[in-house]
Amino acid sequence: THFGYRTVPLAEKQGLVDDVFHKVARRYDIMNDLMSGGLHRLWKDALVSKVRPPKGERSFRLLDLAGGTGDVAFRVVRAGGVGTQAVVADINSDMLEVGRARAAKAGLDGRVEFVEANAEALPFPDAHFDAVTIAFGIRNVPRIDVALRQMCRVLKPGGRALVLEFSRVDVPMLDKIYEAYSFRVIPELGRRVAGDAEPYRYLVESIRRFPAPEAFARMMRDAGFGHVTHTSMTGNVVALHSGYRI
Ligand code: SAM
Repeated sequence: THFGYRTVPLAEKQGLVDDVFHKVARRYDIMNDLMSGGLHRLWKDALVSKVRPPKGERSFRLLDLAGGTGDVAFRVVRAGGVGTQAVVADINSDMLEVGRARAAKAGLDGRVEFVEANAEALPFPDAHFDAVTIAFGIRNVPRIDVALRQMCRVLKPGGRALVLEFSRVDVPMLDKIYEAYSFRVIPELGRRVAGDAEPYRYLVESIRRFPAPEAFARMMRDAGFGHVTHTSMTGNVVALHSGYRI
């Protein structure tokens, strides 16, 4: 580049991300538990509690974007009544395949549908969903602004978007521990369990490059969301962003 540093071209970036998840799809869920020490469950619970699907028969449609193996969608559907349905959209067919098998096993296949789709070009009509969630996915999308606009487009007016993503740890001491954990423990776990450290190095690096919470909140406003707020969890390891289509 003109400035002398190497940036990964956008098309290439998506290719790298796809390789990662093709490689780890079958071990993705166990890796999640191992690498977060089970914490991803608590973070997802916090997300689901904000989605607040209705209890009864009232229709509620969730889009779980970059939904992978369906974790968030399953939680929302279980929290809601029979009227609650979810579409899991992901760019990676292997992740979706694992998700479909999990849904069938849990008896949720009637209420959760899996669709191969790119977050930057959603194949859904305008104003179609009551809520859109994306958990640990937005940082993998090459053009975040495009994806955010798509999320806003497919939401019904008044619908809510929730974005759960790794953040920057700025708590003294915890930052050092987190750094060591991310750059040593995570790739090593990846090597032992998934057979390859490289994909996990890439994931850790992508967390460092992701915008800080205030900057991300601005991106949500720029994409058209209103009432944008964010909360930090677990010493800023994770941030939960919220916005409404107004
Ligand atoms: N949301 C799930 C969870 O929390 O367990 C999966 C998160 S996983 C870390 C990231 C997911 O983003 C992968 O399944 C990957 O295939 C998906 N992804 C990456 N780029 C995408 C894109 N452009 N459009 C849709 N999904 C994408």
